[in-house]
Amino acid sequence: MPIPSSMRAVQLTAWQSEPELREVPVPRPGPGELLLRVDAAGLCHSDLHVMSCPPGTLPYDLPMTLGHEIAGTVVEVGDGVDGSWLDRLAVVHGVWSCGTCHSCRRGHENHCLHLDGRVGFGLGRPGGLAEYVLVPAARQLVAADGMVATELAPLADAALTAYHAIRLHREAIEGGTVVVIGAGGLGHLAVQILKQTTDAHIVVVDTRPAALEAAREHGAHTTGTTVAEAVDAPVDVVLDFVGADSTLAAGAEVLAPGGRLVMVGGGGGSMTVAKGRDLPLGWHVNAPFWGPRQDLEAVVELARGGQIVADIEVVRFSDTLDAYRRLREGDVRGRIVVVPD
Ligand code: NAD
Ligand code: ZN
Ligand code: ZN
Repeated sequence: MPIPSSMRAVQLTAWQSEPELREVPVPRPGPGELLLRVDAAGLCHSDLHVMSCPPGTLPYDLPMTLGHEIAGTVVEVGDGVDGSWLDRLAVVHGVWSCGTCHSCRRGHENHCLHLDGRVGFGLGRPGGLAEYVLVPAARQLVAADGMVATELAPLADAALTAYHAIRLHREAIEGGTVVVIGAGGLGHLAVQILKQTTDAHIVVVDTRPAALEAAREHGAHTTGTTVAEAVDAPVDVVLDFVGADSTLAAGAEVLAPGGRLVMVGGGGGSMTVAKGRDLPLGWHVNAPFWGPRQDLEAVVELARGGQIVADIEVVRFSDTLDAYRRLREGDVRGRIVVVPD
């Protein structure tokens, strides 16, 4: 199919406002770049945080197309790109890392030293909630031939971020008790990854009974609407996918000596970290960020083997703005995935 000159995109045009559907030019790939037709795009709660930022908080130029959780098909490649990428389905690693800095060389592309506050597409660069998206290099793609685009998209962020957080703390998780706070897009996949790749006792906390029911289906052993209700013994690792003052405090309260409080959610919470204060002896506090490419490859393999399956609600591109409203209201099962009209 010929590539059109313009396309529709979901753009944030002003801070502290809702995005808009707008007509924008289709970008064409320069040297090293690839153009993807977007087959599926997940809606992440981080987009809601971005929308609600006051001006000057983030170094992003508006208007900016949102969308950082994408699966698509390569339709055009720039000079120097291996032509065998054409027509292949891939999931996009959304951290536009440099590939050469100290962090990238060690396989920590999510900590690239050259991100400049703008992480990648939909988070500072033109995003994937559009009909086409430009990707800066083939190393941003993980090929996923034969897989289903709608199931792939949530792997790019929801599953990758959850997997990375779990991998970092695997030593404390094995043989222990883990509390997952917030079983939405990221959390429901964290439960599956814990169930499939660890022997932990899995406790899940969410304010929504429907999220708890889904978590039990995915393998949670114990569930509750508050940490205090769900937990009756010291906890080795708290994975907080909410990150509010209240969830951090509740997580700290149940931590065993040597336990780890892992803040993934961007709910704006903060806590005091000090010896002899609110945390037990030997505490660890960590805020992992997204994940490196090797972890994206790992979650694609887990999905290929059927070990993890994102719960998805598929919506049409034209309904994206309404879908964001439902995400804000918590009226979602698993992840909303947008597909072309
Ligand atoms: P989501 O809206 O799909 O899920 C959030 C879940 O938390 C919902 O099920 C909701 O009912 C539950 N919840 C809300 N308040 C709660 C509370 N006080 N106690 C218990 N449960 C509560 O969101 P998501 O897309 O899964 O994202 C989760 C968080 O992770 C967001 O803050 C997002 O910005 C952040 N995030 C961080 C990274 C990272 O790299 N650190 C990456 C992606 C997303
Ligand atoms: Zn995200
Ligand atoms: Zn780098």
